[in-house]
Amino acid sequence: MEKIANYINGELLAPVAGKYIDNYNPALGEVYSLIPDSDEQDIENAYKAAAAAAQAWGNTQAEERFRILNRIADLIDRDLDQLAMAESTDNGKPVKLAKTVDIPRASSNMRFFATSILHFANEAHGMEDRGFNYTLRQPIGVVGCISPWNLPLYLFTWKIAPALATGNAVVAKPSEVTPYTAYLFSKLCIEAGLPKGVLNIVHGLGGKVGSAITKHPRIKAISFTGGTVTGAEIARVAAPMFKKLSLELGGKNPNIIFADCDFDKMMSTTMRSSFANQGQICLCGSRIYVQRPIYEKFRDEFVKRTEAMRVVDPSDEKSQMGAIVSQGHIDKVMSYIELAKEEGGKVIAGGTRVQMDGKFSKGYFMRPTIIEGLPHTCRTNQEEIFGPIVTIQPFDTEEEALEYANSTQYGLAATVWTQDVNKAHRVATKLESGIVWINCWLVRDLRTPFGGVKSSGVGREGGFEALRFFTEAKNVCVNLS
Ligand code: NAD
Repeated sequence: MEKIANYINGELLAPVAGKYIDNYNPALGEVYSLIPDSDEQDIENAYKAAAAAAQAWGNTQAEERFRILNRIADLIDRDLDQLAMAESTDNGKPVKLAKTVDIPRASSNMRFFATSILHFANEAHGMEDRGFNYTLRQPIGVVGCISPWNLPLYLFTWKIAPALATGNAVVAKPSEVTPYTAYLFSKLCIEAGLPKGVLNIVHGLGGKVGSAITKHPRIKAISFTGGTVTGAEIARVAAPMFKKLSLELGGKNPNIIFADCDFDKMMSTTMRSSFANQGQICLCGSRIYVQRPIYEKFRDEFVKRTEAMRVVDPSDEKSQMGAIVSQGHIDKVMSYIELAKEEGGKVIAGGTRVQMDGKFSKGYFMRPTIIEGLPHTCRTNQEEIFGPIVTIQPFDTEEEALEYANSTQYGLAATVWTQDVNKAHRVATKLESGIVWINCWLVRDLRTPFGGVKSSGVGREGGFEALRFFTEAKNVCVNLS
């Protein structure tokens, strides 16, 4: 069985302790490769390699960092088909989604931050004839990047690219649930000529490898994307060491659909925002609030389209819904259907697992599910499920919609559907959310701040926000008198 390797000091290496954990193909429900079960020793080796490389990399001209990161983007583009199939096999997502979203976005992340570093300038503040200040943006040194399984290479590169572009050396950990494309990525870094030690990728469990990065006294910043509970644990360990922290956490995103929306556009986008990637995108809308005059029309059309969705082999180009990422996760997601019923909800579409034939008979498949009749305060509407389950609920007034939308501990993303410009902006202003999409969803401009409020996180990624996070500002004051 294929063994995935760590990437430390420019080499592909087995874990020091020689232990491995199983890597599952979720569509087959079977082990198909082995992941290094790395530990503190591997992290220490990765740290030493990064520390040795940090100074030279930080002093490398921006044009050279641009050239290498851009070259990695070229190689991702070259290997698009292979990477997309690997992502689909590892994660269960439809290969078409990986080919059109995940892998192109990984390439864009590398290219965007490669070019952005050419435009990132230090600031100066004049003080008339008394003097001036200039503020240097210097690399932090060695930084840690920890990412989740839902958009594996997409989110991994979203962190690594700005960290490297700004001249840091990186110790990175992809999710142990979906390690494979990070492994292929390490091979591309070698091919692109990334100097050894500048990026180190250590595979393994969160509680071992992730926590070894978090508690390492000399890894000075942590960029983390994952669940809110893990984020709280990372903050608990890292904050007393005064590490810089960027935490991108969970969500329970509302869609507010007013009666005056463009119904067809809203409907086709709501299908995607509900069920893309099996509902396993932190930005998916899982609480759908619909204004009463169009509630029944919406419900009937939504149920019709949801029931028509094809849940098939994710490597089939026509697949719209693939497999849920793991046995543990499908068990958790399905348990919320039982909870919703106990809470008085009515399942009006889906609600069951899908038993596939042949080689997929052990795969983790379920039907996209719609639940109606629940109050906004119940657990089903308050807790993150992170699967293909949405609830729908009618509302009458704008105030009521805002009260429902803002009622959870989360505040990552929200969607507003209306043709009334004033109402759209008024609601956007009042939503407790880091991101609001008006009459669209998942339209991304990599320059914009990305992140959540409340329990959805601390800090922002994207554009200059990321470049600022991965640098220390040093102000130098010059007195001219
Ligand atoms: P997770 O928190 O279980 O794991 C994320 C990463 O953290 C993994 O690499 C894991 O190994 C590691 N980890 C686990 N325990 C750790 C510890 N004690 N110390 C350090 N690292 C540790 O999350 P997940 O299940 O992989 O991903 C799903 C979650 O991610 C959902 O809550 C989703 O909303 C969230 N997410 C958020 C965003 C965002 O941008 N806000 C994007 C994608 C996913």
